[in-house]
Amino acid sequence: MVDILSKVKEFRASLNEEMFNLFHELSHGQKPHTLFISCSDSRVVPEVITNSKPGELFVVRNIANIVPRYEDDNEVGIPMKSAIEFAVLVLKVQNIVVCGHSSCGGCAAMDFNSVDESIKNVYIHVGLVKDEVISKVGANEHLGNSRSEVIEKVNVINQIEHLMSYPFIKHKLDNGEIKIFGWYFHIPTAKVFNYNFLTREFEEIK
Ligand SMILES: [Zn+2]
Repeated sequence: MVDILSKVKEFRASLNEEMFNLFHELSHGQKPHTLFISCSDSRVVPEVITNSKPGELFVVRNIANIVPRYEDDNEVGIPMKSAIEFAVLVLKVQNIVVCGHSSCGGCAAMDFNSVDESIKNVYIHVGLVKDEVISKVGANEHLGNSRSEVIEKVNVINQIEHLMSYPFIKHKLDNGEIKIFGWYFHIPTAKVFNYNFLTREFEEIK
């Protein structure tokens, strides 16, 4: 069994003067530049793939990086909508990233009709967008080499469409006060792909 307490001791031992100073400075308040919405998957680490330090990313995660529509009143609603509101309206982030990834178990669960009752809440959660996402797979087969990759990428685009239903996000987009990105993290190569809204392709960031 991994001793998580020893991991904290390792963290404390690794702190250098620069990091101590950074945390001291951050104690006065946060001013993150980006709201980062990603899957909870342990292999997707927002700070690692964006080379970010504490204080840069306001992160909100759930299985399959699902964003409720503004008008939705469902189980994912309040935790996600409150984080989005706070990041955009109070912290005034400049960017919103929705980041999906390869081998996403949540997206795989969207593609099954049988429910594993032992994890029924996972199925309730992905069920919120399942029909919407799966219905768009046929028209987007060019996005990936496998059905699972297409579902994972369509899911990112679908959640961005949901973000557009937030009046304050739409307003800031129209005024050029915020940018929205759809990303796909390919785990085996650690490559990050950015969705191009004009070509409708995911392009490697390099
Ligand atoms: Zn995932």
